[in-house]
Amino acid sequence: MQVTQDLIQAQAERTERARSAILAGKFLVTRTSPQQWTVKNGDKLPYVVSLKPSQSDSVGNDWTCTCMDFQQRGPLILCKHIEGVRLLEAAQNQNPQLTEKENQMNDSNPSNEGSLDDRLSRILWELRQPLDMSRVKRRQAPGMGSVPYLEGYDVIDRANSIFGFTWSFDLVGEPVIVRWQKKVLIWNQQEKRKVPSLDGNGNVQVEEVGLVYITGKVTVDLDGKLYCHADLGRCVFTGDTPEVLDMALAGSATDCLKRCFRQMGEQFGNSLYDKEIAQNAGLEQNRSTGANSPTSSRSTRPVVSTPVPTLPVVRKYGDGVSVNGNASEQEAYDQFKEKTGKAPSSKDELRTWLTGQRSTTTPASVAA
Ligand SMILES: [Zn+2]
Repeated sequence: MQVTQDLIQAQAERTERARSAILAGKFLVTRTSPQQWTVKNGDKLPYVVSLKPSQSDSVGNDWTCTCMDFQQRGPLILCKHIEGVRLLEAAQNQNPQLTEKENQMNDSNPSNEGSLDDRLSRILWELRQPLDMSRVKRRQAPGMGSVPYLEGYDVIDRANSIFGFTWSFDLVGEPVIVRWQKKVLIWNQQEKRKVPSLDGNGNVQVEEVGLVYITGKVTVDLDGKLYCHADLGRCVFTGDTPEVLDMALAGSATDCLKRCFRQMGEQFGNSLYDKEIAQNAGLEQNRSTGANSPTSSRSTRPVVSTPVPTLPVVRKYGDGVSVNGNASEQEAYDQFKEKTGKAPSSKDELRTWLTGQRSTTTPASVAA
């Protein structure tokens, strides 16, 4: 619980600082390109805030800032400069939203490509398309054999490409963490069953286990009308280290997001809950690529797993540090792996690589 509260509080503090800075007129925010801003705070040199270009095949909402705070705590926590840009952008977007109805009536909104009907029909058409089975991954689930699932980054990617970034995911309330102690069981060859493990003094060994659950909702904006889908995400874990809890929290949030989207059907893996489809979905895929997939390591001893078929993949850097639940970081990690064929050795290596990737796709920074 401590970990999340710290995160939530750290984020809230930065958002609040940004809000007061804007209200006090201390932030000078200038847009230098469609996805880049400079934020000048008093006499200090301006910081550059960027949003990763929204290409059709990438995940959006990947903010960066050149300040020290973001280098140290981002992308999990967004610094006050990013929050400042976001607040101002949100404020600017208020007006079009208020006049949305008029625009719809006059059908004169110049920012829309094609008519509103076109957009809606395209979205509905895409949602009805059959699921591309090459997107399906499989993993071992205790007591269930192998089960199919979609990865979190893939669901986000798909949502961006279908809805064009006009969706959001919000947690509803605080995550709930339940912990208890469980006897450690080991396989006994003679008795052909699992028996409690004993320590040197003959005492039954116990281990700390837990369950995180989290409620959230996905909201999709279809031309001014908001559609909400809420669900519960959960993740079980073994151990009591901050890392384990961190992964479980991230895992339950990802699980929650995926379960919300699943209500929108086929494109978000709803059919994977059909028993017949579940038997074979993703099998071909796994035979060819499953050998060195990150999921294969969990079949021996899962440290963190959810009791549902939509489990987040375990991603680890070469130095043993786990990739956190931030969708952008996960996506970057997966891209790195896909392009270089190996996991990044550290978060720093991934950052450096990402910066290199960005500079090839974005125009040179205008800021000093
Ligand atoms: Zn910053």
